[in-house]
Amino acid sequence: MTDGRTFKLTGVALALDGAQMLDQICEHFVEHAEVGRSGHSARLASKLGVANIRLQEPKLLIELDCPTEEALQLARTSLAEHMFYFAGTDPLELTWSETAARALPPNLHEVTVVAAEDITPHMRRVRFSCADVTPFIGGDMHVRLLIPPKSRRPVWPGYRDDGRLAWPEGEDELVVRPYTIRAVDRERGELWIDFLQHPAPGVRTPGADFARDALPGDLVALLGPGAGGLPSASSILMIGDESALPAIARIAAEAPAGTNIKAIIEVADAKEEQPLHSAGRLDIRWLHRSRYPIGATGTLSSEGQKALSASVADTFVWVACEKEDVRAMRAFLKLRGHDKSRMYVAWYWEK
Ligand SMILES: Cc1cc2nc3c(=O)[nH]c(=O)nc-3n(C[C@H](O)[C@H](O)[C@H](O)COP(=O)(O)OP(=O)(O)OC[C@H]3O[C@@H](n4cnc5c(N)ncnc54)[C@H](O)[C@@H]3O)c2cc1C
Repeated sequence: MTDGRTFKLTGVALALDGAQMLDQICEHFVEHAEVGRSGHSARLASKLGVANIRLQEPKLLIELDCPTEEALQLARTSLAEHMFYFAGTDPLELTWSETAARALPPNLHEVTVVAAEDITPHMRRVRFSCADVTPFIGGDMHVRLLIPPKSRRPVWPGYRDDGRLAWPEGEDELVVRPYTIRAVDRERGELWIDFLQHPAPGVRTPGADFARDALPGDLVALLGPGAGGLPSASSILMIGDESALPAIARIAAEAPAGTNIKAIIEVADAKEEQPLHSAGRLDIRWLHRSRYPIGATGTLSSEGQKALSASVADTFVWVACEKEDVRAMRAFLKLRGHDKSRMYVAWYWEK
């Protein structure tokens, strides 16, 4: 609840090419916010609040207007992190009218391992206790898992002056990996995350290894939730592999009655299938990698494209898997002119 007051902040960005930066911001955020564009100005409206961005060569002038102090801080960080990502190696100066009000990000939650168990041969569920699970109910479902170095008191990220997160370095460096909140147990105050145990010969897999070794009492932090939520549509087509299975299962579980859900899910073999539940109508097709011809690539995306061609026009398309399959699906959606506000397309890992 708010008292109608809003929280404001202004910022100035000096990018190498301000017009291109504004285009990139609009193009990216259209999948996450309502984006209005008029010439050199853009308005981004999301549940965090409103961002008005105006190009006044060579600067981008930013105005944030948010319902809470926390939302203002999150909106600033999100915009700052994206702008520096878009700038890449190009110089970017970003300054704000005020510095961050809190030392720690308002969406940082310390959580403790309660239990861990294998739910299939290669999927391990870790249950975490969390002091306040309210932010995780409905809405966005992804988090960044922050794993501190063993046997050290964790140091969590703070803020840089430009609004980006300041990550601890050296001996305090954290392992950071994106994961999905598979379920929220309100009564017990618990969050579940399902970790794929993916063997990567000769390479460490710190995210998967954390779940393999997790013991009751282990302390980690979750940054979020954010980055994509439960789609609201009468028809949803989901295409994903094991890394997306927790999200697909959660979307199905939380979809209201009357939703038509089709899912194409690629897993190693039949032992990795999981029972999915939904109040909606659920049609799942499992693809088993063990049955593919040797050297086969792109099977998931080509099956996804066939399903998309057969789907109704206003279908919400949800895609998450390995980068190459995602690229192929994105290109296909672009070719078909699929409405960007009716899709979520994200790569969850890279070969
Ligand atoms: C928004 C989002 C939500 C996600 N949710 C989940 C989730 O709920 N559960 C989950 O298990 N994963 C999820 N992922 C994927 C997960 O973040 C990645 O798989 C991550 O790379 C795992 O980290 P790691 O430390 O185990 O391996 P890394 O250190 O990142 O990678 C080590 C090696 O493993 C390979 N590798 C990484 N992931 C896979 C994979 N899935 N299959 C095969 N090889 C792989 C890499 O190519 C690399 O060679 C999500 C990703 C995103 C972006």
